[in-house]
Amino acid sequence: SNRRVLTDAGSSDPLQWFAQAQQSITVNFKELLEIIDYSDTLIKGSGELIAMSECQQKVTEHRQKVCRVMEVLARDHMKVAFFGVTLSGKSTAINAMLSEKVLPFGMGHRTNCILQIEGSDSENGYVLTEREPDTPKSIEQLEISIKKLADALKNNESNFVRILFPKTKCRLLREGVVLVEGPGIGVTTELNLWLDKFCLDADVFVLVSDAVATLTQTEKNFFQKVSERLSSTNIFVLLNRWDQSVFEDDVAEVREQHIDRHLEFLYQELNGMDRDKGLERIFFVSAKEALSTRLVEKGEERAKAQLPGQEERHIRFCNFERALEECMSQTAVKTKFERNNNLGKSITTENCALVKDILKSIRQHIDRMRFDRNEMAKHLDFMERQLTMFKCEFKYKITKTVAGVCTEIAKMLTDEINR
Ligand code: GDP
Repeated sequence: SNRRVLTDAGSSDPLQWFAQAQQSITVNFKELLEIIDYSDTLIKGSGELIAMSECQQKVTEHRQKVCRVMEVLARDHMKVAFFGVTLSGKSTAINAMLSEKVLPFGMGHRTNCILQIEGSDSENGYVLTEREPDTPKSIEQLEISIKKLADALKNNESNFVRILFPKTKCRLLREGVVLVEGPGIGVTTELNLWLDKFCLDADVFVLVSDAVATLTQTEKNFFQKVSERLSSTNIFVLLNRWDQSVFEDDVAEVREQHIDRHLEFLYQELNGMDRDKGLERIFFVSAKEALSTRLVEKGEERAKAQLPGQEERHIRFCNFERALEECMSQTAVKTKFERNNNLGKSITTENCALVKDILKSIRQHIDRMRFDRNEMAKHLDFMERQLTMFKCEFKYKITKTVAGVCTEIAKMLTDEINR
């Protein structure tokens, strides 16, 4: 049904969920860095009063960890991996999603190449191969490069080709989506290698299947292998070439058969998943028509005669994209940020404990000396209150002001002590 596309138009772009989460976790980590800087100042401010080398080392460790996470965060992206047997229409589906003829299609023999498309800030884009990672090739030569590679590869080898395509041309790439097309192979050891190396970190998987041909044993085995490796919760099924079904007499029957087979594949491991839920992941489409419609819209191709039901198939393709984007964005936020968020929290806790220890040591030191105790205690209480506050909240919300005040007091204490 086209309900989703029509009624959800007002809601925000799912791909933005990821971007927003990425932004807010980055802000959190920046604030955490400030806390770490504060503890660093406190340690330095306390001078030679107490043995600080251990604390200093810990703070350095915290800073290194946070910096590493921030680097990873900046590079994080969403990833969708396509798989299916050769000539099922994977390249065409990817091109349709990008509204660009990025991948060459109908090249059945390049079975051992894994193609990855990612966004590039460069105007023309370029291609990098695993064998010559330092020699960028032009996008125009992609087909030739792939053919050459495929010919050069021995039977059991695979090669990874990165296509860096201009972000300005495709929304998906602009929003940080990376698309991977797997080798269209049957069941070999290569498949496992491929899944492990390039797919396990994908947020969603799209199985492209030829809806006109009947499911072959190779395909069944292939599905079996894939489902052993991946969690089926994030798999979508594109039953492609559905435009061809208009020539068949038994469309309804074929459709039911496909649904049953693919539901079995999708949910054999998921207990309690019902048919309706499963159906939300299966789409009868025509990637070829979707691509053509979009190229016509962009004025890059002339409109061709339409087969009956083309509009409906296109709406289904749009629904597929929307569902995929929602799933991908949600999954990416969860898998990529949740762990780091927890790490941030634990560093905050550790850092707080560290600062408390330092304060305790300072207090003990002061106690041993004869200063104006009342005055001192007031300052220390204030400082501890600040620290408890941010510890309780467990956010990284120690603002510059709080850090500033604490630093000032730390300095005052030190001056006082050294006087
Ligand atoms: P891949 O090997 O899985 O990447 O498949 P390709 O995308 O290269 O497609 C193989 C051939 O099928 C190409 O000639 C495409 O034009 C054609 N094809 C792809 N999708 C469709 C479709 O939905 N309908 C029809 N009729 N042909 C398609």
